[in-house]
This record gives sequence, C-alpha cells and structure tokens, in this order.
Amino acid sequence: MKLKITNLSKTYKNGVKALDNLNLEIGTGMFGLLGPNGAGKSSLMRTIATLQKPDSGMIEFDGINTLKDQMELRKILGYLPQEFGVYPSMSAEDLLHYFAQLKGIASKTERATIVKQVLEVTNLYEVRMKDVNGYSGGMKQRFGIAQLLLNNPKLIIVDEPTAGLDPAERHRFLNVLREIGTNHTVIFSTHIVDDVKELCNEIAILNGGKILTQGTPQSTTDAL
Ligand code: ADP
Ligand code: ADP
Repeated sequence: MKLKITNLSKTYKNGVKALDNLNLEIGTGMFGLLGPNGAGKSSLMRTIATLQKPDSGMIEFDGINTLKDQMELRKILGYLPQEFGVYPSMSAEDLLHYFAQLKGIASKTERATIVKQVLEVTNLYEVRMKDVNGYSGGMKQRFGIAQLLLNNPKLIIVDEPTAGLDPAERHRFLNVLREIGTNHTVIFSTHIVDDVKELCNEIAILNGGKILTQGTPQSTTDAL
C-alpha cells in the first residue's frame, strides 16, 4: 500500500504558498513528517485527507486517485486533526458506540467487540465510563485515535498529536501510535525531532512547502 504525491502545490488566498511543487512517496508502517511551525504540515495532511484541494498535483493511494475519488479515500481513511474535537457530555464508551453506529456497524454485539478493542488499544478501557470532556489533553488525543480506529482504516493521518502534551502524556500517546503502526500505514506530523526518532522507520523533513530530505530518522536528523 503506497501513497504517492506528485507536484503538489497550494497557494492560499492571502498569497502564502503552503505547498510548493511537493513530491513524496510513503510506504507501509510509521511515517513521520517533521517540520517547524508554518512548514506546511497541516496543509499537506488536510490535502491528503481530501479536506482541501490543491491548486495542482496528484495524490494516489492504493490505486485510488484521491483528488478525484474523494469518497473512495474517505471510506478507508482515519484522520485526526490538530484541533481537539468537541464532544457531547457522554462517556467514552457510549460515544464510541454512537460513532460506530454512524459508521454503519449495525449489530450491537459487533459494536461492543470493536468498541472494547479500540478502548484497549488506546489504553482507555479503565476510564471508559468517564465523560470525554473531563479527559486530559493526552486522553483526548487517544480517544481521537480510538474513534478513527472504529472502521479499521487503511490509511491513518495524525496531525501534530503531541503538541501541548506533557512528557508523561506524550509517552503514552507515542506508545499507542507505535502499536498501531505495526499493522497500519500511519502518517504522523510533528515539530519535535525526538518524536520521529522514537517512533518512525522513515521520515521526511518539510520546510517552506517542500520536502528537503527523506530517509531514516538517523540519517536525516543527524544534521539538525
Ligand atoms: P504547519 O502545519 O507546518 O504549521 P501549515 O500548513 O499550517 O503549516 O501552514 C503553512 C503556511 O500556510 C503558514 O504560513 C500558514 O500561516 C499558512 N496557512 C495555513 N492555512 C492557511 C489558510 N487557511 N489560509 C491562509 N494561510 C494559511
Ligand atoms: P497527565 O499525564 O497530565 O496526568 P494523562 O492523560 O496521562 O494526563 O492522564 C490523566 C489522568 O488519568 C492520570 O491521573 C492518569 O493516571 C489517568 N489515566 C490516564 N489514562 C488512564 C487509563 N487508561 N486508565 C486509568 N487511568 C488513566
């Protein structure tokens, strides 16, 4: 399963060129997109997630032309945006049941199985009865992962999930991502070099809307 991005460009209405003829190929496993604030990480991830259109370029995943067949991609995509979700006042477990229903998992036993599974993977099972609005930032991020895992996506995009987390939360979160990366294609963006060093088998460094270099975390970050 490969994601191939060709000549992707985007200039916003205010004249900012966020993506500048960007080319990138991503294979399976845990891929890190490293770059400072303003590099274009969110723009790239929103574009891959079909939430915004580029001015030009092409994106292919698993035989899907994602800019043309947006719906096909959305069916197999799990996307965690940088902004926290706002949730109704419900327990994590009830909310996940609700989301599972929205995703079309009709059978109650099937829903119970998948909800338990995603709560366990994200290490939230013990706090499943608590209101999500009372969760810490780290728990909310893990809840976001639980939510996107409900439909077993083939491609997972996680935008700067560790921003603002304290060290303990950050470690818990990275551990969850590491586990998910063993059997999913995960693209994960961050401005923290240690995040990609701990987690990724391959990374790319983004700056000024361009990929500067791509390779193993060791080979690409030595100069930083
Ligand atoms: P990053 O995620 O790496 O911080 P972004 O993709 O958010 O980078 O932003 C890249 C550049 O595009 C920045 O200069 C940012 O201010 C600008 N930008 C991002 N989104 C918009 C938008 N909707 N309208 C105008 N400019 C934007
Ligand atoms: P922080 O590191 O700021 O405390 P966390 O998200 O790590 O934020 O956790 C907030 C609180 O909830 C902590 O007291 C933590 O021990 C507890 N907590 C977090 N995840 C779980 C879990 N899966 N099971 C039980 N308690 C948890």
